[in-house]
Amino acid sequence: MTRYAMTMDTRRCVGCNACVYACKQENDLPVGGFRDWITTTTRGVFPDLSSEIRSERCNHCDNAPCVYACPTGASHFNEGGVVLVNHDKCTGCKACIAACPYDARYVHPDGFVDKCTFCLHRSSKGLDPACVSICPTESLAFGDLSDKRSVVRRLLDARNHKTLRPETGAGPNVYFLT
Ligand code: SF4
Ligand code: SF4
Ligand code: SF4
Repeated sequence: MTRYAMTMDTRRCVGCNACVYACKQENDLPVGGFRDWITTTTRGVFPDLSSEIRSERCNHCDNAPCVYACPTGASHFNEGGVVLVNHDKCTGCKACIAACPYDARYVHPDGFVDKCTFCLHRSSKGLDPACVSICPTESLAFGDLSDKRSVVRRLLDARNHKTLRPETGAGPNVYFLT
């Protein structure tokens, strides 16, 4: 069964924000609304410091707390395990925003809650999501985890990786290559 996932190479990302602006343009996001964002964390003790730059977004969790918290069924699992919001069913109550451990959602000015869709309008046709296709350092990859030949499966087999906040039990499907 198809299980869409994304990998993000923390060793390649330069924090250029191209993925952020590609997403805004592709998905016609409102002013102040973002489906992905860049974080930088610093590790170590001076003078032995290193930093990690990450492009983050909704993790399309296997056990998505946002879906279980949604009282109207607007937040739901779709094709390939992708978590979507049906804007027509969303009342803007924000229960999903409170439930998400990753702060991946925002309120659209039109009153519904919005977040990353894994660009399902593109990925279901075999195209990469906009953020993946724009990345100048090829830090991002997208594909079907259940397909042994997929780029994400091959990267995860070859590289050390982690997910964010695995202790929440949400079951994230965005993997950070380290
Ligand atoms: Fe990093 Fe690529 Fe996004 Fe630039 S476009 S911030 S290199 S993930
Ligand atoms: Fe839901 Fe947040 Fe998981 Fe995305 S990251 S599926 S919004 S709980
Ligand atoms: Fe935005 Fe699509 Fe990338 Fe999600 S997959 S962050 S919706 S460009």
